[in-house]
Amino acid sequence: MSTTVTKPNRRGHFGPYGGMYVPETLMAPLTELTESYRRIRRDPSFREELAELLREYVGRPTPLYMARRMSRELGHADIYFKREDLCHTGAHKINNSLGQVLLARRMGKKRVIAETGAGQHGVATATVAAMFGMECVIYMGKVDMERQALNVSRMRRLGADVVPVTAGQQTLKEAISEAMRDWVTHVRNTHYVLGSALGAHPYPMMVRDFQSVIGREARRQILKAAGRLPDMLLACVGGGSNAIGLFHPFLGDEKVRMIGVEAGGEGIRNGKHAARFAKGKVGILQGTRTFVLQDRNGQIELTHSVSAGLDYAAVGPEHSLLRDLGRVEYTYATDRDAMAGVDACCRFEGILPALESAHAVGFMLRHPERFRKGDVVIVNMSGRGDKDVQEMEKWDAAHSASGKKGGS
Ligand SMILES: *Cc1c(COP(=O)(O)O)cnc(C)c1O
Repeated sequence: MSTTVTKPNRRGHFGPYGGMYVPETLMAPLTELTESYRRIRRDPSFREELAELLREYVGRPTPLYMARRMSRELGHADIYFKREDLCHTGAHKINNSLGQVLLARRMGKKRVIAETGAGQHGVATATVAAMFGMECVIYMGKVDMERQALNVSRMRRLGADVVPVTAGQQTLKEAISEAMRDWVTHVRNTHYVLGSALGAHPYPMMVRDFQSVIGREARRQILKAAGRLPDMLLACVGGGSNAIGLFHPFLGDEKVRMIGVEAGGEGIRNGKHAARFAKGKVGILQGTRTFVLQDRNGQIELTHSVSAGLDYAAVGPEHSLLRDLGRVEYTYATDRDAMAGVDACCRFEGILPALESAHAVGFMLRHPERFRKGDVVIVNMSGRGDKDVQEMEKWDAAHSASGKKGGS
């Protein structure tokens, strides 16, 4: 059997997915970025600078923690958490922001822009920009700004200009479009720091490369801790950057199973979810060909998840290829599963996970039949849940008052 290590061709295609489906005006900036990245990523001084800042500023390597009580209570596997929640700013996003901002500096750009949904990527980018004294503009849907007021205030305190986007649904998709518009207009001095393994080439490849530090560390750490490779990797999938970052360095290890967990929202039957693989079709959204939630006429559908970070209509193109190859299995966890995941992490381990990360834990709780005693499982704890406590309170209030239908 041949190993399945996916990589894009020169024009950024992962098999039938990916590519650069953008207007003419974006071709020049994307081509410049592709070429600069190809050159700079190999430069030993760039790699050294990145490694040093990941260590001294982000706090890497993050621990691989064995969740002993959860393993014992669930009784079905040895569960390890890869602790991305302990990164500076509280999630994996900064691995990518740091890489891209360093790249931007070497390309001679003085200004960085980014989109943000829940605000985690905006905070990470504003943080790194502040550290380097760069001008930073963050585009954010007006609705998201209201839902995530805390992160808006963090970004502004860090010196970023947070621009409300009022088009369409006023959420992440519109914020990405607005950032692209800014980029086209200011490309001479500006780099666009895209926040997930999404969009046109080279972003899916570049973001994956910067996030692969997660899997490289985890591979080394589990060999030391368990004395062997894991049986299974689990990660939540929004755009797909924390998942591909964990998975990619293990793709050649054929015995390691991998499961990506999408947002099942209120259940995938009534349409209020973000389960692109369960219900989506192949289409093009914001520069890339991939699985997209769309109606019969190709109109992008509304998505729903209790976690803002998983709430997007398209998934990163490399995941679409990994799914077709059967190398990674994609499934979903509902809002309710995720809330059960939050409770289990809190009560068994004293760890308050981000709602996104809690989807991966929720899948484990929902599917004990998928695990055997003694299995070694790594769950990517992509972020911490401080940002979500208000959302959790709201969920509790809505689900304790009106007819809670027993069990979880
Ligand atoms: C943004 C975010 C996600 C989802 O994004 P991916 O690109 O799929 O990783 C997951 N977890 C946390 C904590 C996030 O902030």
